[in-house]
Amino acid sequence: MADDSAQEDFDGQGHNPLMVHHVQVWLRESRVQLVPAAARLYNALTQSISSTVRKILQADMQVSSQWDDWSSHTLSPMNGLTQSYLFKGRLLKCEPIDLGRFVVDLRERHLNYWTAYSDIHPRERKSNRSTCHQWCALPTKRALVTHSPYTLPRYMLLDLPHDIIRSVARFRLCAHTLRIETLTWTHNTSPTCDLCNAHDVQDEQHVLFYCTHPHVVSLQRTSSISYASLFSSAGLNNVPAFLGQENNELCFFLHALIGFYEQASSRTS
Ligand SMILES: [Zn+2]
Repeated sequence: MADDSAQEDFDGQGHNPLMVHHVQVWLRESRVQLVPAAARLYNALTQSISSTVRKILQADMQVSSQWDDWSSHTLSPMNGLTQSYLFKGRLLKCEPIDLGRFVVDLRERHLNYWTAYSDIHPRERKSNRSTCHQWCALPTKRALVTHSPYTLPRYMLLDLPHDIIRSVARFRLCAHTLRIETLTWTHNTSPTCDLCNAHDVQDEQHVLFYCTHPHVVSLQRTSSISYASLFSSAGLNNVPAFLGQENNELCFFLHALIGFYEQASSRTS
């Protein structure tokens, strides 16, 4: 997690993973949703039928522009937007801004943030953001004014027991006890799976597809609750395809899986 200061709390050190997950989703969405809400309020003020309101807004802008930190509070959120110069000019003149263009610019800037985490495979660079973005997050959509570029994962829309929801959230956010994570706060120096002979890093991909521990193999193939369909439809090593399945059994499988490795980790640590 060396490059993930914002996610250093996702390490199983007493934080509620479900709450953390919801906070992350909120943060991911709010930056795209709250700023347009503020812009809508600003536009409404500039177009108010009340001349008093408009005068107050203009006076406030003039007074505020004399503050040293005014720019950082009001104009800097526009930095990085394709048409930031246009929006800043409108703000300085107390004129309404084009909300449609503003929202698309905002969503494009937000999507661009994740570009840095799209190229290098999670196994080549230890980064929770790369892992979350490439393996766990649902694919993003184009930045359009009509809808968010993000989609909520299926488990968040289901009426599931809290412990199941918590397990799925933990798995998707690297808030689990697989060795790729535990070595950041334990004395273990190797991320190699100590539960099988595959000589492979114990990460999300390993436990889903490569681990040869009898219990995991049994869970995948011969459990009384059959999860075989999860593997037949997602391919043999495609983590995002596996986690993106529209199959409710996926939640229960991840719950069983993460529970097994957590117990194993507690025995060996
Ligand atoms: Zn293994």
